[in-house]
Amino acid sequence: MYTETEQLEFDANHIWHPYSSATNPSPTFMVERCDGVMIELTDGRQLIDGMSSWWCTVHGYNHPRLNQAMTDQITKMSHVMFGGFTHNPAVELSRRLVELTPSGLERVFLADSGSVSVEVAIKMAIQYQASRGKPQKHRIMTVRNGYHGDTFGAMATCDPVTGMHHLFQQSMPQQLFADAPPLGFDRPFQSSDLDSVRHLLEHHAEETAAFIIEPITQGAGGMRFYSPDYLAALAELCKAFDVLLIADEIATGFGRTGKLFAVEHAGICPDILCLGKALTGGTMTLAATLCTAEVANGISHGEAGVFMHGPTFMGNPLACRVACESIDLLLENNWSQQVSQIERTLNSALSPLRQHASVANVRVLGAMGVIEMKQPVDLNEIQPRLVEQGVWLRPFGKLIYMMPPFVITQAELEQLCRATTAVIEQLQQQ
Ligand SMILES: *Cc1c(COP(=O)(O)O)cnc(C)c1O
Repeated sequence: MYTETEQLEFDANHIWHPYSSATNPSPTFMVERCDGVMIELTDGRQLIDGMSSWWCTVHGYNHPRLNQAMTDQITKMSHVMFGGFTHNPAVELSRRLVELTPSGLERVFLADSGSVSVEVAIKMAIQYQASRGKPQKHRIMTVRNGYHGDTFGAMATCDPVTGMHHLFQQSMPQQLFADAPPLGFDRPFQSSDLDSVRHLLEHHAEETAAFIIEPITQGAGGMRFYSPDYLAALAELCKAFDVLLIADEIATGFGRTGKLFAVEHAGICPDILCLGKALTGGTMTLAATLCTAEVANGISHGEAGVFMHGPTFMGNPLACRVACESIDLLLENNWSQQVSQIERTLNSALSPLRQHASVANVRVLGAMGVIEMKQPVDLNEIQPRLVEQGVWLRPFGKLIYMMPPFVITQAELEQLCRATTAVIEQLQQQ
């Protein structure tokens, strides 16, 4: 058995972490186990989870119902190929997704990660347009400050600056970028907010297959909330210009914004919808791309006659089974009440931070709280301080933000906010 120090050393010398450096690795903590909203480090320290492991663990960790669902499924089959076979977990999950998502979305593609579900969405849009005799409509339009994943097709639709597109320019499709939606869920919408989108559509709709956007909340591209009226008007523009709308709900799906799906704030139905992250309650990697019958049938009448995608682990039964259980749990738990309670607590606990000299903006929507600092925070400095205070957050850029598991208690959430405030005060005093 290697000591903890030896393992951390091996990790630093040999293992990539998300967006990590091999030569200047940032502090990495060793986890022993997780339970509920607590993350326990190997040295015994307990941290309140403010990140839901990047939007995923809505029911907390080590949930007995999710564990049981997986245990039951493992004894039958953890995987079987999806070409030529189907199974109850895939059928039951797809039935739930078709029922719960806006009506019109009727066909489900079960992929293995969020980025892949975005690739699938883009390929669906391109194949659909080609099947209508419009192969020239092959580009993707989007807004700045977006985030849609790290594979090439998805990356090409991420914000060009934060996504460092110049590094990959030669190998990546060049997509079309409009201005980001103006900040503010409650900000009154003005038609001029969409001038940049309209301008782009007027000039490029002929070559555009689809418009992709994160509904209501731009996540990794800046934790920005925007108006439902903007989204509704955007959906209308896309229709008017004969461009499909792809809603990327990988982060927002399953209640995070206060609606089960964020598109419901605007009362729209996209042509294609991507889901991931919270889909399995944070237990297994799984994603889904849903599309309308119109898109699905169009693709199937096209040149290929089939949709050209089929990952090895498509429809993984273990992941599908636990996703069914997670969705059932979400509905039984009255997620809507959980999220609005979190929203209230975040609002009252975080608003005093608006007075701090180092804080530029505090914003809350659903189970998401965002503190935007005036200066970028140094992760290597702030992360150990947060851990010292007994909480787990993962700030990036100027943003210190939280999206806790829905099962967090009021006391735990207040503790999370107090600890975060204490660290911001420490930094300010330096
Ligand atoms: C996380 C995320 C993705 C990518 O999902 P992965 O599972 O990390 O590939 C895509 N879109 C949005 C909006 C996301 O938040």
